[in-house]
Amino acid sequence: MAEKKRILILGGGYGGVWAGKILEKRFRKRADVEITLVDKKPFHTLMTELHEVAGWRADPESVQVSFKKIFGAKRISCIVDTIGSVDFEAKVAHGGKKDYEFDYIVVGTGAQPEFFGTPGVEQNSFTLWSFDDAMRIRHHIEDIFEKAVEETDAEKRKRMLTFVVAGAGFTGMEMVGELLDHRDAMCRKYYLDPKEVTVMDIEALPSILPILPEDLRAKAMKYLEKRNCVLKINAPIVGAESGKVLLKDGSSVETDTFIWTCGVSSSKFGASLGLPVGKRNRIEADAEMKSPKYPFAYVVGDNSGYIFNEKPLAQIVETCHFTAETAAKNIIADIEGGERHTFKPNYHGFMVSLGSHYGVANAMNMKTKGFFALFFKHFVNMWYLFNIAGFNQVWEYVKHEFLDIKDKRSFVGGFFSHKVRSYWPLLLRMWLGLAWLFEGINKIGEGWLAYASGSKSSWMFSKGVVQAGVKAVADATSAATAAAAPAAADATSAATAAVGTAATSAATAVAGAATAAPDATSAATAAAGTAATAVAGAAKNAFHDVWNFSAPILDPNGGVVLWFKHTFMDGIFSHLSYQVFQPMVVFTEMIIGLIFLGGFFTWWGAAVSIVMCLVFTLNGMFMWSQLWYFFAAILMLGGLGRSFGLDYWSVPAFKRWWNGTRFARHWHFYADDPTK
Ligand SMILES: Cc1cc2nc3c(=O)[nH]c(=O)nc-3n(C[C@H](O)[C@H](O)[C@H](O)COP(=O)(O)OP(=O)(O)OC[C@H]3O[C@@H](n4cnc5c(N)ncnc54)[C@H](O)[C@@H]3O)c2cc1C
Repeated sequence: MAEKKRILILGGGYGGVWAGKILEKRFRKRADVEITLVDKKPFHTLMTELHEVAGWRADPESVQVSFKKIFGAKRISCIVDTIGSVDFEAKVAHGGKKDYEFDYIVVGTGAQPEFFGTPGVEQNSFTLWSFDDAMRIRHHIEDIFEKAVEETDAEKRKRMLTFVVAGAGFTGMEMVGELLDHRDAMCRKYYLDPKEVTVMDIEALPSILPILPEDLRAKAMKYLEKRNCVLKINAPIVGAESGKVLLKDGSSVETDTFIWTCGVSSSKFGASLGLPVGKRNRIEADAEMKSPKYPFAYVVGDNSGYIFNEKPLAQIVETCHFTAETAAKNIIADIEGGERHTFKPNYHGFMVSLGSHYGVANAMNMKTKGFFALFFKHFVNMWYLFNIAGFNQVWEYVKHEFLDIKDKRSFVGGFFSHKVRSYWPLLLRMWLGLAWLFEGINKIGEGWLAYASGSKSSWMFSKGVVQAGVKAVADATSAATAAAAPAAADATSAATAAVGTAATSAATAVAGAATAAPDATSAATAAAGTAATAVAGAAKNAFHDVWNFSAPILDPNGGVVLWFKHTFMDGIFSHLSYQVFQPMVVFTEMIIGLIFLGGFFTWWGAAVSIVMCLVFTLNGMFMWSQLWYFFAAILMLGGLGRSFGLDYWSVPAFKRWWNGTRFARHWHFYADDPTK
């Protein structure tokens, strides 16, 4: 067997996960290639949504996508460990738990905030560049509001209720947007006048969001001002002290919440690995994303120091994908040979949310604002999640962003977020169960299971056996046969007598004909002329019939139709109606009834009853007064069996079993979150 090739991916961020996906897909069937991804967290962090967690829009789990979920049954080992150092000469990475030997390594350990040496900032600010950072801000905000309402010293209270974000790039602006939204909710909760709370952004440059065109910047600025955000542009920060931000013009802002988003550099850890490093800790890489020192070491995402068109790469998600794709394809080329790849970006633009109700976007050659910009942003997020973890993760996103939100903090408002406690519809569930059960029992009484009493379901179109009943028709057929027998005997003897008479008169006629032969010749000549005319007419009709295909096939009394009716509709299909369809309807109705009564796999019962209602309606079998079955079943889809029903136990057990199946893990076809 060929020697094993070991690929180690260091960091499961946007770059590491993307590279892992490409490599796994390629080497899935090769037992001689081993892929390992190591991250210090058990989940992939959706960094682009951190501000939502920090600002209490979304739950912490909304930005965590478990590696188990992403890689499921794929041939890639995901290990939770913190790598401390890498020995590139010996090709081994040293983790806290164990060492990892490799032949190829992909370094994607992300970025960290850059303070540019500004005195006191690192010690006195919050940052927003990791899940832990977001949680720190989240807890602090809740805490500071709680303390501020109790504070009687006006100066201290003002400082506590002043929230300062430094930097007006997309991270800073998105954080400001969340603070503005959350301010309103907090003021309601703590009986505060919103005028008491200040949300401020401080930016050294003359404008916010320099990555966007002028008109979109102006729109964003107008929106923020309308929401009473204090924007200080052209205001470089020169330092910070406890509770104070110092500006270049000599002024200062007193605050207990100072969030620094002004700069980013590649992670210090990445820079400490021993690979050549350029500006802001970025690891040097060529166009193939290889380190110039070790051709088996690849660098992706925010770590990559590749200089493209004389500029460093933007530290954004799309860069992660392009660098990861380049690195992964070149590792494939290293192992399998073939074409090598160089970095080819195809950037689509930027989308920035300013809270949950407004955003600006310059993407795919379109400038949008408000609803459409947010729609774009959500769509792109869902597209990404679908690619890494399938529809299940998209559904999780929908839940976190639209269905489970609080304080109407979604661009579709709170229309989808209100929930009904599942004990309210308990009696409706029972009633619906009884209705279905009685429906089935009544059908038995009506003869739906009685083979002899004919079709109750009007399922077949034939007017033969099905409508009349199989046994009834069989009886009628034998009665008709018995009645026809004597008549047939009479008819036969009558026919024999008639044939004898006809033969005698024919012989007499032949004798006469011999005598009349000369006359016949001239008569024949005349007849020939008439016959020729008749043949021409007949030929014309025959030609017409040749082209009239429909008559022999579709004539209701024609041979083909009768054969089809008797063979299939009154024959084979009639048994389907009796022996399959009707009993199936009866038992399904009774089972649905029991499902709702017992609250056992209620979702499935609801889904089947919705289908039944639709089929019955289309068939004309449903009564107007039964339409409520349909609407009630929609309500039952909400997992109502878990309240005073067996689903309390059965659903978690089923999910555990299902989420462990290879099928679910391979196709990301999980029931709910498999990590819960
Ligand atoms: C608030 C915010 C908003 C943003 N918004 C956008 C946006 O709208 N659009 C956009 O394109 N970009 C946005 N970005 C930038 C984008 O998130 C980054 O470019 C991207 O996360 C970089 O991906 P990465 O794979 O290089 O690193 P990361 O995603 O940071 O992943 C690095 C991984 O390495 C792991 N790791 C680090 N050190 C070790 C170690 N020693 N051992 C084991 N594991 C380790 C970490 O746990 C982490 O999982 C935003 C960033 C932030 C913070």
